[in-house]
Amino acid sequence: MPLLVMKFGGTSVADLERIKNAAAKVKREVERGHDVIVIVSAMSGKTNELVGWVEGTSPLYDAREYDAIVSSGENVTAGLMALTLQEMDVPARSWQGWQVPINTTSAHASARFESIPAANINAKFAEGFKVAVVAGFQGVSPEGRITTLGRGGSDTTAVAFAAAFGAERCDIYTDVDGIYTTDPRITSKARKLDRIAFEEMLELASLGAKVLQTRSVELAMRYKVRLRVLSSFEDTNDTSGTLVCDEDEIMESKVVSGVAYSRDEAKITLVTVEDRPGIAAAIFGPLSEAGVNVDMIVQNISERDYDDHPGAVTDMTFSCPVNQVPRARKAMEDAKAAGHINYDELNVDTDVAKVSVVGIGMRSHAGVAATMFKALSTENVNIKVISTSEIKISVLIDRKYMELAVQALHDAFELDKAG
Ligand code: ASP
Ligand code: MG
Repeated sequence: MPLLVMKFGGTSVADLERIKNAAAKVKREVERGHDVIVIVSAMSGKTNELVGWVEGTSPLYDAREYDAIVSSGENVTAGLMALTLQEMDVPARSWQGWQVPINTTSAHASARFESIPAANINAKFAEGFKVAVVAGFQGVSPEGRITTLGRGGSDTTAVAFAAAFGAERCDIYTDVDGIYTTDPRITSKARKLDRIAFEEMLELASLGAKVLQTRSVELAMRYKVRLRVLSSFEDTNDTSGTLVCDEDEIMESKVVSGVAYSRDEAKITLVTVEDRPGIAAAIFGPLSEAGVNVDMIVQNISERDYDDHPGAVTDMTFSCPVNQVPRARKAMEDAKAAGHINYDELNVDTDVAKVSVVGIGMRSHAGVAATMFKALSTENVNIKVISTSEIKISVLIDRKYMELAVQALHDAFELDKAG
């Protein structure tokens, strides 16, 4: 039997009515001859509520109990989905992570998959069951305790099952009807993409387009799982939504596919640090130990003298999520106090945002940077930091210009028009 994985996010299973609506989509695929593995999230808002209960009970909670509690939302929706399908005469059975078993590492709250043996679920299919409803977001550790995968982890569960069972496709049903060239809330010219390459989706996901958990896209790319993002609130067919796939499957070839943004960035500059071998390691080592996710880095020659040695100093600028600024500051102050680094000032700018253009076409086309910078300069947007990769150019700008910059770039690359 051809096998399909269908994942329903929190808004798609938010109440009994919506679960029925989702179940009807599953039933349709069963009637078309598929065995189906359904992955469900908790009802929307449920996981936040559970996390709140944990924090309200124990500020420095035991992560094993955190996982035992926050994984429970998915257990409820998995059982309800199986019952709803049974009511529709579709033979279905629910599975919690440990029953499959979904074997993970013991890193509680951020566990990773070790293995997903197919035997137990396949035995049920062989008995005549048509649907296995699996609780997303959870697994079981080698010690036999319940684990969770990190927020948004049900997407990753879905992709992992598609890989483990060799599914035809992994359909991610959500509250938007696909992946757009940019956030439609920022410009009405945003256009839904029919297809997008794994690499592009990975950049967009990690740059703040929150539709898919980044890890799910990494996994899909590694195992070549064709992913489809589509709406659970519309009538859908085989061509609905956006297909995330290998670049070989993409005909439309625009140089730039999308504009992404990330609002909550901060820029930190260490003014006048010594310019010597090992200085970058002395700065970024402690930052990484402190769990600071450094993104962009710029090192430039300082204007100032250092111990009367002109030229032997530099300024080091980096960006990180704004909520990690206190940790970054402490790591730098501690390193300075310990004599590992020295600097005159630590300047923090918490009013910046990152805007990026992404496209696999950039590999073979020059001039993307020039077009991008010209569009920003026409709008008088000052660029503070630039970074590039093979398929992406990012700039850090004042946050108050973020929407303007996204609109200007969307226009400059004519993303409202199909390629
Ligand atoms: N329910 C979990 C969360 O809200 C996992 C998920 O829905 O993907 O993070
Ligand atoms: Mg999600």
